[in-house]
Amino acid sequence: MSKNVFVLAESRDGNLRNVSFEALSAARKIANGGKVTAALFGTDQAQLAEQLAHHGADDIYLVEHDQLNTYTTDAYTQAMMQVLDAVNPDVILLGHTAIGKDMAPRIAAKRQLGLISDCTDVEVNGDDIEFIRPIYAGKAFQKKKVSEGAIFATIRPNNIPVDEPDTTRSASTVNFDVEIKDLRTIVKEVIRKTSEGVDLSEAKIVVSGGRGVKSEDGFKPLYELAEVLGAAVGASRGACDAGYCDYAMQIGQTGKVVTPDLYIACGISGAIQHLAGMSNSKVIVAINKDPEAPIFQVADYGIVGDLFDVVPKLTEELKHVLKD
Ligand SMILES: Cc1cc2nc3c(=O)[nH]c(=O)nc-3n(C[C@H](O)[C@H](O)[C@H](O)COP(=O)(O)OP(=O)(O)OC[C@H]3O[C@@H](n4cnc5c(N)ncnc54)[C@H](O)[C@@H]3O)c2cc1C
Repeated sequence: MSKNVFVLAESRDGNLRNVSFEALSAARKIANGGKVTAALFGTDQAQLAEQLAHHGADDIYLVEHDQLNTYTTDAYTQAMMQVLDAVNPDVILLGHTAIGKDMAPRIAAKRQLGLISDCTDVEVNGDDIEFIRPIYAGKAFQKKKVSEGAIFATIRPNNIPVDEPDTTRSASTVNFDVEIKDLRTIVKEVIRKTSEGVDLSEAKIVVSGGRGVKSEDGFKPLYELAEVLGAAVGASRGACDAGYCDYAMQIGQTGKVVTPDLYIACGISGAIQHLAGMSNSKVIVAINKDPEAPIFQVADYGIVGDLFDVVPKLTEELKHVLKD
């Protein structure tokens, strides 16, 4: 049976986030001939509608409101509830992003739905829709399905392949008014960090440093390597706790979860809490001077050595290789 699927599209700095395309690819698969509706929250989003159509949306709800330009739990939840009442989808998909993680449980509770969070894949066999999600810090995978009511899931970025856009597709656009009231928090100003770099959670390559980098300056060779590779720079909690870098860079159980094509761990021991955030990376390279470091058990390629020798050599070599 065909399904009507709803996707909340997320944008940043005027660009759609890749996870929205991943969610749309999953949505098309699940819809099985049914309708895919996407929503864009905030003002000046209309120019993104075309891309959503090319990636599989049939209807696009433009939900323009000043209070939706920056995420707040109250405003987004109120808007989502009104949109969902209007669309009444069989399936709701959100990215497992900061927004999705915060909002999905609230929506699930308000609509009395089960929620399958942090999914890395979906298998569709007719009416049988199973979501796959990592458990036990990525050591095993669980298959879950919803037996009653609408299906609600969040999609982990960088896992579901994005379908080739079909530039011949078009969608109908609905300007949807929402009433937002009684807000307990209002964002007055967003102060950004000066160096934004590549977004860690959606990066294809991550170069990560641990306590082995020894200081804030010790991250410099990692940034140089990252620049050559077009990578984001992450860190272990050990490095963050030591004050070598910002907590926004922390990867792991209590930090960000990343699934890049390539993860280069430099001076990171490989504690289970760190593995929880990166062990599903497609290729893992570990650089550590201790041959017994647990990170080598999950690494596809291991280099036993001092990172301050290895990383600059790797950077120089890659400069040549990537230039050709
Ligand atoms: C509830 C809880 C939640 C946690 N959440 C997280 C989390 O989200 N993310 C996280 O990362 N951790 C987390 N931790 C902490 C985790 O247990 C580890 O303490 C932490 O990951 C260790 O960081 P590290 O590998 O950088 O440091 P260390 O364990 O000290 O390892 C440093 C490594 O660097 C190597 N090294 C040293 N010098 C060099 C050199 N010159 N060249 C090459 N290698 C070198 C050493 O051989 C060693 O293997 C959590 C812990 C708890 C209890």
